[in-house]
Amino acid sequence: RFSTAVAVEEPITPPVQVHHTQLLINGQFVDAASGKTFPTLDPRTGEVIAHVAEGDVEDVNHAVAAARKAFDEGPWPKMTGYERSRILLRFADLIEKHNDELAALETWDNGKPYEQAANAEVPMLVRLMRYYAGWADKIHGLVVPADGPHHVQVLHEPIGVAGQIIPWNFPLLMFAWKVGPALACGNAIVLKTAEQTPLSALYVSKLLHEAGIPEGVLNVISGFGPTAGAALASHMEVDKLAFTGSTDTGKIVLELAARSNLKPVTLELGGKSPMIIMDDADVDHAVELAHMALFFNQGQCCCAGSRTFVHEKVYDEFVEKAKARALKRVVGDPFRKGVEQGPQIDEEQFNKIMRYIKSGVDSGATLQAGGDRLGSKGYFIQPTIFSDVKDGMPIAQEEIFGPVQSILKFSDLNEVIQRANTTRYGLAAGVFTNNLDTANTLMRALRAGTVWINCFDVFDAAIPFGGYKMSGQGREKGIDSLKNYLQIKAVVTPLKNP
Ligand code: ADP
Repeated sequence: RFSTAVAVEEPITPPVQVHHTQLLINGQFVDAASGKTFPTLDPRTGEVIAHVAEGDVEDVNHAVAAARKAFDEGPWPKMTGYERSRILLRFADLIEKHNDELAALETWDNGKPYEQAANAEVPMLVRLMRYYAGWADKIHGLVVPADGPHHVQVLHEPIGVAGQIIPWNFPLLMFAWKVGPALACGNAIVLKTAEQTPLSALYVSKLLHEAGIPEGVLNVISGFGPTAGAALASHMEVDKLAFTGSTDTGKIVLELAARSNLKPVTLELGGKSPMIIMDDADVDHAVELAHMALFFNQGQCCCAGSRTFVHEKVYDEFVEKAKARALKRVVGDPFRKGVEQGPQIDEEQFNKIMRYIKSGVDSGATLQAGGDRLGSKGYFIQPTIFSDVKDGMPIAQEEIFGPVQSILKFSDLNEVIQRANTTRYGLAAGVFTNNLDTANTLMRALRAGTVWINCFDVFDAAIPFGGYKMSGQGREKGIDSLKNYLQIKAVVTPLKNP
């Protein structure tokens, strides 16, 4: 049924080599203190790409000490904003120069289509670095009026050493969202990458050093969550923690941060975002948008439109067309031109998604397309569609993080508002209608950090992103992201001659 299945069996040789597999501490690539390594796997085949140094508590301690020194003794936080800005701009130029190599590394380690890595993810990393370079020399405090004879200044200072933990679904984008604002504000960083995708962050971090970042300002630890990640979250010398990942792990790191030194935490967690198709919608357009909203990046997006609510008047037509679209989706080797969907990240996620597919069937949803693995190697899954999905089913409540679209029927606006808001998440929502009043009503009523109207997955450096409810705390990107990395100091002096 899928003509591309052959491509899965004979993997294309990636047009890139792995150069960096060690930890990056104090400007040097070094082995883990334990000497241990772990394999990072090719999701197309499950075979080893490289063995990577496995950071643990001792390495995190070294990295935090290096960051501490870089922050406390300078020169980084003492540089002018303009100097920091120029380093970030040089960094952006270097990334741009190595665009294709970086994209290939990302595709190899993550499994996402090369065309998307090369034309979207890496260019967005560049864009974000230039955006934050633009902020570096525009961050300043203010003078506020006081009731008494006092001169009151409010200083905006860098917060110190930032611990940052990122996931595997957009390794470079997550790097950018975390590292960009922290550097623009003059902080030092210890970044822990996801164990599934350690390679691209090491590559770009080398470029950042070529661009002139002082040693110790950005340290990168590859390793696992309960060891390296937990050490970072609970470190007494880390002044701020930023985390992106699952809601369950978010709770753990928040607790670790609280139990150690009460470091402030920003969290970007899971979602179960509604995509609402109203009865006035152009069905062909709606089908394509809802398809992209769910299947983009193999369904591995925290904001995926994973509950497709369709008005009863267009429901049957929508389901037919959504099914036809899913059956046409090109799945195969992500290095092959024209491929829309590569493999899932690893066996664990693959198995979890297959369990959800089984749960959908068992709970009585109608399987319209897919439902099975593709090929016999790697972690490819057929684009899968369920219709007749009911709110209480696990596939309508829990984050699947895979290529499984759940279609639900609704009949009026108030009903869909209430149902769309009935999950523990509140990351994003999509609305598809030509009626301005309907769009306005939905936009205001939906409890979500982002509402996309007649579009989906539009990301921009200046647009804040983050969640309501158990989808997170705080916002990344945009002006709001700077607050996460600044300390506020009030300075009061008496005025002799007010
Ligand atoms: P996923 O299920 O998508 O892999 P996780 O939330 O488990 O999401 O992982 C996101 C990031 O959090 C990864 O870098 C992972 O290593 C890290 N992580 C996982 N468990 C912990 C933990 N107990 N403490 C700190 N970090 C963790």
